[in-house]
Amino acid sequence: MATIPVNEPWITQQEIDSVTQQLAGGWISSESPVVAEFEQAFAKACDRAHGIAVSNGTLAIDLSIAALNLSPGDQVIVPAFTIISCVNQILREGAVPIFIDSDPLTWNLDVRQLEGAISDKTKGIVAPHIYGLPVDMDPLLLVARKYNLWVLEDAAEAHGLRYYGRPCGSFGTVSTFSFYANKNITSGEGGMVLTDDGEIAERLRSLRNLAFQKHRRFVHEELGWNARMTGIQAALALPQLGRLEEIVARRREVGRIYREELRNIPGVELAPEGIEASANDYWVVGAVLSFYPTAANELAVLLANRGVGTRPFFFPLHLQPAILSRGLGGSLGDFPTAEKLGMNGIYFPNGLGTPLESIRETARNVRISISEIAEKSSP
Ligand SMILES: *Cc1c(COP(=O)(O)O)cnc(C)c1O
Repeated sequence: MATIPVNEPWITQQEIDSVTQQLAGGWISSESPVVAEFEQAFAKACDRAHGIAVSNGTLAIDLSIAALNLSPGDQVIVPAFTIISCVNQILREGAVPIFIDSDPLTWNLDVRQLEGAISDKTKGIVAPHIYGLPVDMDPLLLVARKYNLWVLEDAAEAHGLRYYGRPCGSFGTVSTFSFYANKNITSGEGGMVLTDDGEIAERLRSLRNLAFQKHRRFVHEELGWNARMTGIQAALALPQLGRLEEIVARRREVGRIYREELRNIPGVELAPEGIEASANDYWVVGAVLSFYPTAANELAVLLANRGVGTRPFFFPLHLQPAILSRGLGGSLGDFPTAEKLGMNGIYFPNGLGTPLESIRETARNVRISISEIAEKSSP
């Protein structure tokens, strides 16, 4: 039985030609001019002054946190429901993530809970746009301004997504992107930081390149990373920027197919088709099952046996072993929405490269499998 993977990339002849041109021209490292070309085009698409291409989305966050100058004991507000990449570098620097819960409707950080989490040690807010809808940025930015906090906008899942018409990636003190294989634009692995702050941009360029110095290259005043993006990666990503509207439209079409198939099933919660600020772009098509605690796991096994790939939702950060072992995090019950999403959420194949006919068949398969799981919970 053919397996329908949870993701398949959409690579066109344009991308193949663009990469081939790099290879034929002998440009294989980060020295290729196409890296700067991609940085400028990407920054422009988000109305930002500077783009700094890096080797993945996690390092885009790590370097940004390093450039924002935390001290041990400083606090940063982070939603409990997000990827661990949002807190790695905060923890490595001895700073403290303060978790808040998510909005049960949008699955994004609940902006109403921000002020209650602020203390005199708070330095910033990490705001990831989750699974296809934007964070409510306007009230978030008001709170940030009021308390003089920086904002790290994690737009790894939000290329081409808009908040009241303004591009995601245009809001943060720094805004980060990933170009992993399942993102709206991919370079296989890759990332980007956008900012309007020239000093931060300069610092990021230094940190991604081992903090080499202009005048004494091999004398280092601080520890950097090798987080450089190659020309091959930039050449792969660049043409997709021109197709971004088409890519987002495709995501929405796939989302629509699943919505029709999975609508009105008691015990199955889907993300809303849209909110006032934006239509959902269904970066993932997920469902939260409330039949019984192991329903999402059982559905994953059932679908795997039928050749359909799935993924569980993010696991809540306040319950992560790697965070609890540092004496941070929290307990079960602290953030009920994050816990509900993390324990009961599952997402389905929505690859940009998967034919729509396969998506339709898979969505039917998902509906049938869900009803089989649901039957087990009724007497
Ligand atoms: C994918 C993702 C990242 C990490 O990007 P990588 O390129 O995989 O390191 C960070 N934040 C969010 C919200 C993501 O979805």
